[in-house]
Amino acid sequence: MSDSPTIRLVLGSRNVKKCREMAELIAPPWERRPWMDRVVIESIAAHPEAPEVVEDADTFAGNARKKASEGAKALGVWVLADDSGLAVDALKGAPGVLSARYAGEPSDDAANCRKLLEAMADVPDERRGAAFRCALALADPEGRIRLESEGSVRGRIIRELRGPGGFGYDPMFLIPEYHRTFGELSALVKHQLSHRSRAFAHLRPMLAKLVAETVGG
Ligand code: IMP
Repeated sequence: MSDSPTIRLVLGSRNVKKCREMAELIAPPWERRPWMDRVVIESIAAHPEAPEVVEDADTFAGNARKKASEGAKALGVWVLADDSGLAVDALKGAPGVLSARYAGEPSDDAANCRKLLEAMADVPDERRGAAFRCALALADPEGRIRLESEGSVRGRIIRELRGPGGFGYDPMFLIPEYHRTFGELSALVKHQLSHRSRAFAHLRPMLAKLVAETVGG
């Protein structure tokens, strides 16, 4: 890192595994650019003073905006928030924005997967399509939303859990072309296909421009 001015950017998620994916995707090794050295990434977990945001919007984008804006205002720094989840066709888009709390609070990945397995038990193979969706929102230190982006990936919900990788519903989300779930695919492969990687692929060029405008490029 040079002596050039930098931007402090807080990733607004307390989900450690999601936060790790966000950090990998903001400046991925396969797409290094000089502007990435101007962004100093922190996790909101390092800021116990950050508010607990009530995620009561009915869209991923709405919740992402809320998390980014409220976090940024409270901390006085740039905040990038990700709101994401699983929308299952046969469940009319559920668990959707409630994905993290599908089996109740506090959020429990194993309990959420069990509940989804049960809800899908009688759904025939040809009706098991689903999509992971991700909305990103970046707020400036005053809490104004400056960038937004979305991404999704389609797959199928299988009848058991497969693979130790990823988090959340990854072990039951099959990518048919690979015959593997996100739990079985490596992080590198997930990063080429996922809803989050697609949202970040849209975000990165916009972020590059914003960083250049803010601290010079
Ligand atoms: P959020 O932190 O409120 O956005 O909740 C996201 C929830 O959606 C997580 O707790 C997971 O259950 C699910 N989810 C989001 N992204 C992924 C993913 O990449 N893999 C698996 N589950 C995910």
